[in-house]
This record gives sequence, C-alpha cells and structure tokens, in this order.
Amino acid sequence: DSIANQIAAGEVVQRPASVVKELLENSIDARANTIHLIVKDAGRTLIQVIDDGIGMSATDARMSFERHATSKIRTADDLFAIRTMGFRGEALASIAAVAQVELRTRRLVDEVGTAIRIEGSEFKNQESVSCPKGTNFQVKNLFFNVPARRNFLKSNPVEMKHVLDEFQRVALAHPTITFTLYHNDVEVYNLPSGKLSRRIVDIFGKNYREQLATCEEETPFVNVDGYVGKPESAKKGRGEQFFFVNKRYIKHNYLHHAVLSAFEATIPEGSSPFYVLFLEIDPSHIDINIHPTKTEIKFDDERAVYAIIRSAVRRAIGVYNL
Ligand code: ADP
Ligand code: MG
Repeated sequence: DSIANQIAAGEVVQRPASVVKELLENSIDARANTIHLIVKDAGRTLIQVIDDGIGMSATDARMSFERHATSKIRTADDLFAIRTMGFRGEALASIAAVAQVELRTRRLVDEVGTAIRIEGSEFKNQESVSCPKGTNFQVKNLFFNVPARRNFLKSNPVEMKHVLDEFQRVALAHPTITFTLYHNDVEVYNLPSGKLSRRIVDIFGKNYREQLATCEEETPFVNVDGYVGKPESAKKGRGEQFFFVNKRYIKHNYLHHAVLSAFEATIPEGSSPFYVLFLEIDPSHIDINIHPTKTEIKFDDERAVYAIIRSAVRRAIGVYNL
C-alpha cells in the first residue's frame, strides 16, 4: 500500500541524486550501450534516464513497480553472488511512491512498446506506444506528495552537486558506455565510450592526461586496477577519490588510508592524491548487503585487501622500499 511504500521510499530516495543513482544502475543492469541523463532544477522537477538496453515486456513493466519485484535474484544463493547493481527490487516502487513517474519501454523482440504512468504509488494508465528499443524513465516533481521531504532538500547547487557525484561515479565505472548529461537544457557532459583514462580526462579535464599513473596488481584473492594521480598532482584538501568494488562505488576509510599511506612522504601534509581504483573480488568474500544505499561494504579479509592496495599504489608511483 502507499503508506508502506512511502515509508520504505525514505530509505532509498533521500534526494534527486538517489533517483539518479537507481535509474542509472538499472540501465547498466539492462546492458545499455548509451545512457542519457536529463535533469531540470537539480532534479526537483525532472529526472529522466533514457537507455538502449534490453527493455521490458508490458507485463514486466507493470511488475517492475511492485515492491521486491526484482528480475535479478531468484534464489537465496544468488544473494551471495551479486553481480548486478540492483538486487533488492525496491527502487522503482520507492521512487513511484514519492513522484510522478512515466515509463516507456520496448524490447527488441516486441513490435510495440508500453507506456505506464504512476503517481504516488497510484497506477494511472498503461498503453501501447511506439518507442525505440530500451527504456525511458521520467521522474517528475519528486516528493510532490511529501512536503516535509521536499522542504528538506538543499539548494539547487547542493542538490546538483550530489547528482553530479552519482553521475560521475557511474560514468567512471563504465567507460565503455556512452553517457550524456543535460541540466536545464545545457549539456554538462558528453562522454563517448572508450578507455578509463579517456573517461577520466573527459570528466575531470585535460590536465589529468599527464598526471595518471597506472595501478595494477593481480592476486588470487583480489585484482586491483585503475589510476592514481602522480604525487606532484596531489591537491590541497580532499581531491577526487574513487573506489569501486566489482564496479560498485564504495566509501571505505580504511582502504582510503591504504592509498594515503602508500603516498606517505611523496606528497605535502594536508594534500591528497587523485585515484580511481577498481577492485575485483569474488562476491562471496564481500558483504554489500549492510545498507540499502549500498555504498558501504565489508570484506572478510580487510587487512589483506589493505596490504594489496598499498603495495599496488606504491609500485604505481615508484616507491619500492617496503
Ligand atoms: P532491482 O534493480 O533491485 O532489481 P528496481 O526496483 O530497481 O529493482 O527495478 C525493478 C526491475 O525493473 C528490475 O529488476 C528490472 O527487471 C526492471 N528494470 C528497471 N529498470 C530497467 C531498465 N532501465 N531496463 C530494463 N529493465 C529495467
Ligand atoms: Mg535497481
């Protein structure tokens, strides 16, 4: 029912950026090659995600708004081998509880697509439409029916900063996917598919091109790869720092410290290095299920991961004496 949906929505949907994250991740899971994100008023009035992924049948499209409707987990064992971004089946139900949602979707095998309109969990309309293969979500007037939450949102620049953060994380994790971002009809990013180094430069600027040191380490337990900024490029304060585990962005203070400790004396006090590091690890060795927004993670052997990252970063920046 709609009250339960609204309460549960509070967990998943805190602000426009949460919607952006969930929709982008769904497009990734749908194996899109191209993803367009369009926002208006920092996502308050419109968040639209258009992908060219696998799309949904008319029945699945309707089902996708039911709570715990996930096509991604079938058995309890799947929970320990999560490879997709989503797995809880709550995002769309939660978003639809607190916004006006329009979905258009078509699978390659279907001649016509389907359009659905839902407002505050209330199903309004479903019809056949002609539309491109893939999925097009429009989320309008977030929290239109929850004034307390709407009033709790910060200024547009602050909300837009959160949107950009989510967009950058997803775009960095998937350099082979083409992304665009428009805000109030202005193009903010146009990111053609390519290598990670190109994606970093396209997002953060040309001066990063000469500043990247390759970071790679393969062990039976975990693989590390990505880039760290050369020590001379370290900036005052907090720079751009990204950890991904199995392509999922995570925050992890302990592992962040592993990188900092590798840089040690090579950078001035109070400055911090750029890094974009990908860890690949068997999903059975991690627990990503500890928080619904899924930016935290537990490893069964955190100290081993720490040591591996530290040594990989030291090698990348040319510090060998352990
Ligand atoms: P989850 O991602 O955890 O499975 P969601 O609520 O985010 O749950 O999505 C529900 C279901 O809707 C997904 O499992 C998927 O089958 C379908 N779906 C959502 N977005 C898309 C999309 N962009 N393309 C294809 N299918 C989608
Ligand atoms: Mg999802």
